[in-house]
Amino acid sequence: MSASAAVIDSYDAVLFDLDGVIYLGPVAVAGAAEGIAELRGRGTKIGFVTNNAARPPVAVADHLVELGIRATAADVVTSAQAAAHLLINTFGAGARILAVGGEGVTVALSEVGLVPVHSADDHPVAVIQGYGVDLKWQELNEAAVAIQRGAHWVATNIDPTRPTDRGLVPGNGAAVAAVQMAVQAEPEVAGKPYRPLLDDTVSRLGAYHPLFVGDRLDTDIAGAVNAGLDSMLVLSGSHRAEQLFSATPGERPTYVGEDLHALLRPPLDLSQSDGEFRCGAATASAAEGTLIIHRNGATEVEAIWATAHAAWWGADHGLVFDVRDALAQLNR
Ligand SMILES: [Mg+2]
Repeated sequence: MSASAAVIDSYDAVLFDLDGVIYLGPVAVAGAAEGIAELRGRGTKIGFVTNNAARPPVAVADHLVELGIRATAADVVTSAQAAAHLLINTFGAGARILAVGGEGVTVALSEVGLVPVHSADDHPVAVIQGYGVDLKWQELNEAAVAIQRGAHWVATNIDPTRPTDRGLVPGNGAAVAAVQMAVQAEPEVAGKPYRPLLDDTVSRLGAYHPLFVGDRLDTDIAGAVNAGLDSMLVLSGSHRAEQLFSATPGERPTYVGEDLHALLRPPLDLSQSDGEFRCGAATASAAEGTLIIHRNGATEVEAIWATAHAAWWGADHGLVFDVRDALAQLNR
């Protein structure tokens, strides 16, 4: 492969996380629509992946279309669908499933031929628990009773929080934890960072060598690592240099980019000699107590990538250092 080949030239498909990658709440990430259109023009297969179980795929696709991105419901895979897929594989069509959550959960059950019920007295074989904006305590009661009677328990996702424009609020993981305080059981989890959601998306796309693009290390990049996929962290959403420098071995991306347009450019060229990492003109190395960074006029993302590798190398060699000091050096 020539030095000028784009990142995407090594892959036949891209799985995109949505919030923080394609949009920030109601608004598109700048240039996202043009970037997706260019990828489609190259013949890249595109899948949109979301841990958010509240909205059915058609609602997610409509949102993408409003933002100027071509998408149909078939291009979107939700954690509720991945949970329903686990349940149909285990229990078969017609099985009665206690549904906790909103429309996204009941639609996902119905579309595979499972039967949503709403009381533990309806003899469900399993409980599916996903986010619903109108969740009632009574639904948690029914889930706990059904689980104690032996029903299998699947959570769409266990994100502890949900970002809003007014701050963080409890996510589905908080409601799962509420049930867990009453029962002696652990849920099976469909969403990132667990494999089912990403495995389902790869198989729906018929992808041979897919790349996953996300904005969080703990769900997106860890999920890609768990699913055996290469990954790119984009800095357009939740996680930035500070989190990247502290990434554990199970949450380190293959690539980093400011936003999804990095897919259309060559990968950053990283080299190492004697513990010194170089990216563009930037160099970084780890010593006890500190990271030594020289930006040398490199772009910010080049300096971040060199520093991330130095930080990971240092952490893996037992060195401890102050990430805030590294951030201050980057901004100098
Ligand atoms: Mg995200």
